[in-house]
Amino acid sequence: MIPGSPSSQGALVLFSGGQDSATCLAWALERYARVETVGFDYGQRHIIEMDARQRVRAGIADRFPALAARLGEDHVLDLASFGAVSESALTADRAIEMTERGLPSTFVPGRNLVFLTYAAALADRRGLTALVGGMCETDYSGYPDCRRDTLDALQQALNLGMARDFSIETPLMWLTKAQTWQLAAHLGGPALVDLIVEESHTCYRGERGEQHPWGHGCGNCPACDLRAAGWDGWVAAGRPTGAP
Ligand code: ZN
Repeated sequence: MIPGSPSSQGALVLFSGGQDSATCLAWALERYARVETVGFDYGQRHIIEMDARQRVRAGIADRFPALAARLGEDHVLDLASFGAVSESALTADRAIEMTERGLPSTFVPGRNLVFLTYAAALADRRGLTALVGGMCETDYSGYPDCRRDTLDALQQALNLGMARDFSIETPLMWLTKAQTWQLAAHLGGPALVDLIVEESHTCYRGERGEQHPWGHGCGNCPACDLRAAGWDGWVAAGRPTGAP
């Protein structure tokens, strides 16, 4: 990864340790002089996600020394009370299925609104102005708080309510899952793709197990299905590395 000339702005990346947020972290490191990460502990089923966060951060620092100086602090905020309110398949031991209102049972009501509001409060204290998240409408999972319209409205509310000039940056918003792999290849070449395959975690069931070409996971939950289909699409396209 060749660092571009960075914006003097600082960025806070919502970083779960998954493929999408790992790609967002690389995207931010290429653009901003100072990048910090925030994770939310809200009773996820899998402590494995929290471990993945540290492995991806360490991997970026090791494999991309030119960017290591830009990678600042990591923050973990305890949102256990939010997890208690929003019990769903991600936070409780329920099956992953579609609910009667057409949302997957993995939908945690208002999650991105809550996360971004906490992130903005933290960014205010840290002097960071860009909030970077992996929300995506293209392979739309049915999550209404991933929509750009929702985030535009929230950005306006945060800026009015905190008298700030935050921008909510969503570099994956209009990309397919295949193009998310392409973006990783564009940003960091095979080294970044390998790091994301090896260390990022996406599986809803929290399985690591054997390593598939696209990474670790159970291979048949909705999150693994999306990740594997995206990988297959990128490979079928000839593993393009241009800007998606
Ligand atoms: Zn899985």
